[in-house]
Amino acid sequence: MNTRRKLVVGNWKMHGSRKGNAELLEGIVAARPFGCDVAVCVPFPYLAETAVALAASDLRWGAQDCSAHEQGAYTGEVSAAMLHEFGCRYVIVGHSERRAYHGEGDQLVADKAKAALARGVTPIVCVGETLAQREAGETEAVVKRQLSAVIHTLAHCASEMVVAYEPVWAIGTGRTATPGQAQQVHALLRAQLLAATPHAPGMKILYGGSVKPDNARELFAQPDIDGGLIGGASLKAADFVAICRAADAT
Ligand code: PEP
Repeated sequence: MNTRRKLVVGNWKMHGSRKGNAELLEGIVAARPFGCDVAVCVPFPYLAETAVALAASDLRWGAQDCSAHEQGAYTGEVSAAMLHEFGCRYVIVGHSERRAYHGEGDQLVADKAKAALARGVTPIVCVGETLAQREAGETEAVVKRQLSAVIHTLAHCASEMVVAYEPVWAIGTGRTATPGQAQQVHALLRAQLLAATPHAPGMKILYGGSVKPDNARELFAQPDIDGGLIGGASLKAADFVAICRAADAT
């Protein structure tokens, strides 16, 4: 248990429809109040409607990626300034699906985090090892390398990011890191942040990877786990709300 306020963020990925989203958001809004901070990161086209649906609540919203560029001839990209205009509080950067399918490297992820912060949008920076890397004993080196690029690029603003540890082998697979495995990596990340900023004790490090209502509580009870980044289970209001309740209770 720690005294940092927990944060639970839904990552809808490329799921949703206008009708389905309205029902999902209604279900989450109806379950308030929560004793933790709650946000949903939705596909770009749904930002405006999400902003309207959540405007009168204390729930936050965000996006799943942003450009590292301010503006310009970057077809298909969305800038942090645009996200800010739509009231985004958060943006996920460096999700393993973007690293794997869009070739995003550590420096690009760091540049995206910097672009987000410059526009007042909090980056949720994802780090995590693949199964092969874990089995090769490379977990520590991989996550440290990924986080190091962001720490160096953000410099004195590093304390303003949220970090999410998402072991790639646990994302969407139903295979969750054990609370002990997750805590071990979170402690490493916290130590790395501590070496970089005196604000590290107050920074949030989320866990992501097949978090479900039945495993959330034990994960969130770990001393360096400050909430979750939730994929599949964020698409059903009852499951997402149950995970938020688990965060409330820890
Ligand atoms: C994610 O996409 O960030 C994630 C953690 O997905 P899931 O919860 O489905 O494993």
